[in-house]
Amino acid sequence: MQLNKPKHRLRLVKPPLHTPAVAAPAAAAPRTSEYFRRIEAYAQRIRGTQDVSAIINILDEALTETRALGNDPLTRTAPESLQQTEREIEALQIELRQLRGLVHVDHLTGMLNRGGLDLSYKRESARADRANSQLGVALLDIDDFKRLNDRHGHQAGDAALVHIADVIRRTVRPSDVVVRFGGEEFLFLLPDSEINDAARALHRLQSDLNRHPLVFGGADIPLSFSAGVAVRRRGQSRDSVIAAADRALYAAKRAGKQRVMTAEGV
Ligand code: GH3
Ligand code: MG
Ligand code: MG
Repeated sequence: MQLNKPKHRLRLVKPPLHTPAVAAPAAAAPRTSEYFRRIEAYAQRIRGTQDVSAIINILDEALTETRALGNDPLTRTAPESLQQTEREIEALQIELRQLRGLVHVDHLTGMLNRGGLDLSYKRESARADRANSQLGVALLDIDDFKRLNDRHGHQAGDAALVHIADVIRRTVRPSDVVVRFGGEEFLFLLPDSEINDAARALHRLQSDLNRHPLVFGGADIPLSFSAGVAVRRRGQSRDSVIAAADRALYAAKRAGKQRVMTAEGV
């Protein structure tokens, strides 16, 4: 998802510095310069992500630092300048939260949520019709996820979802659309993909996931998924093509999990 860069960013990177009326002790200078160094590091992290939830979390850290500096009696930065920075960060967070709601982003994984599927499907199916190309649809369901939660705790389950979302983001093409479809299910819209292309994309994802297990509490936790893939016929409804992918997914589960099956094969 491409977001317009927040217009407040530059002000965040270089907040206004007011000269205090009374010179502060020399010992305070490193605190302030350390603060600006860290704010610049936050800004760089923000530039490096397109995940709205991650940006909101980074801003939270920046806000905590700003408040801490404001409470530091030795700070050289004028309190009103820090309060202004604080207000700007808060305003930015509010805007981003609203944006996250509008663009239907799942809070945990940063993927589109189900609300975003409708628009994406309409757009991609119209594009496929115009270009006379195939739209692949895949449904992925993590294997034995309940057991992972039971064994390692709900936090590990959440971390697994975030981890899989990261692996997916690294693996798919920029034109692919990924939606968190349910608790531990992700749905893919794969433009210009025949059934075998779609299956290959999911196989590639599985081998990436094998190479990168979840690291949680200092231990490697291997993750696997099952997937069903289908290809939309011209004019086919969203629900009908997803049902076809779901039948293939169900077949993959019944056949022993950790595999990808095609709707043509079931
Ligand atoms: P299968 O291999 O057949 O898919 O089994 P499974 O255990 O993965 O599937 P099941 O449907 O039995 O359990 C899904 C579990 O996913 C149960 C639910 O508590 C958990 N879950 C759903 N959403 C979340 C979430 O956001 N975070 C965490 N930690 N767990 C979740
Ligand atoms: Mg499931
Ligand atoms: Mg599952």
